[in-house]
Amino acid sequence: MPVIPVSAQYVADPNRYQSMEYRRCGRSGIQLPLISLGLWHNFGGVDSIENGRAMLRTAFDLGITHFDLANNYGPPYGSAEETFGKILAKDFRSHRDELILSSKAGYDMWPGPYGEWGSRKYLVASLDQSLKRMGLDYVDIFYHHRPDPDTPLEETMSALDFIVRSGRALYVGISNYRPKEARLAMQLLRQLGTPCLIHQPNYNMFDRWIERELVNVLDEEGVGCIVFSPLAQGMLTDKYLHGIPADSRAGKPVTYLKPDDITNAVLEKVKLLNQIAAEINLSLAQLAVKWTLRNRVITSALIGASRPAQIEEIVSGALQPALTNEIIQKIEQILSG
Ligand code: NDP
Repeated sequence: MPVIPVSAQYVADPNRYQSMEYRRCGRSGIQLPLISLGLWHNFGGVDSIENGRAMLRTAFDLGITHFDLANNYGPPYGSAEETFGKILAKDFRSHRDELILSSKAGYDMWPGPYGEWGSRKYLVASLDQSLKRMGLDYVDIFYHHRPDPDTPLEETMSALDFIVRSGRALYVGISNYRPKEARLAMQLLRQLGTPCLIHQPNYNMFDRWIERELVNVLDEEGVGCIVFSPLAQGMLTDKYLHGIPADSRAGKPVTYLKPDDITNAVLEKVKLLNQIAAEINLSLAQLAVKWTLRNRVITSALIGASRPAQIEEIVSGALQPALTNEIIQKIEQILSG
């Protein structure tokens, strides 16, 4: 990875709020940028902090006010929050009130029975650790990262309510919850007096499960929706059309995107989608992210990036005129073919 020169003193672009669009998060008072940046990959202890800093600066200068983390982002676990804490202290401290920062707990974080899932013990301890790593007094959004089949939903939701009442978070969200359990969680949170702000599901052209039911639940409940992996981890770009580049996610030794995931059937669709994108002067990456935002129930698309130029490209695509029905239909034909 080339070292990207970053000036020591960061001065945020004074025009950063001029072009980004913001959508209201459900029926709450919070607005989120059309594009948010997640720190799952490329911000770990194994990655270049200067590249991470350059990406965060680029994002903020483009009006991206929301950065998404979790306890176990790295590798190693916790290191993305540490990296973020260092960059925040140096570059963004004076902008804290312009930022929506989120973290999560739910997946495995530390050994033993209190280091994952959904107990009150785990959630509160994990958030305390996250706050320390990031050097924050509070996060703006704290999520339960995945449903826990063995802990009563009442316990998990009352832990989220406690987390807000104790000043550790301003809002709470849920992630990876299916429609029925999401609705129940939202009802419980409302009864407790801490309404659910947002749901964070995966959604992209190759994985459309939320369209069946969840989107309606969120609309009815007035809860926002931030969709993760809108590029299917990079598969919905042109980068894999001619093999697997060594510096791509699928080219790395430890990754959740395996070369075997990029099948011929995937590549066939990518090729056709790439042609549609070219017809309207977008890159496939731009088209794929823009497509996820066509339903107003989606508040924000939560992308990842490995370099600043990718963020610039996606934001510029998101701000182009809405996709026409004709283009949406053509995409539909490819996806259902
Ligand atoms: P994406 O689907 O957006 O994939 C991001 C990857 O796509 C980048 O790392 C990069 O990969 C490639 N890419 C991005 N922009 C471009 C571009 N313009 N041109 C070409 N390639 C591009 O999202 P992620 O899977 O990274 O997830 C995003 C965020 O969502 C995470 O950081 C996290 O915050 C959240 N998330 C939440 C989960 C949950 O359970 N709640 C689970 C997973 C993610 P490359 O390295 O190949 O350049």
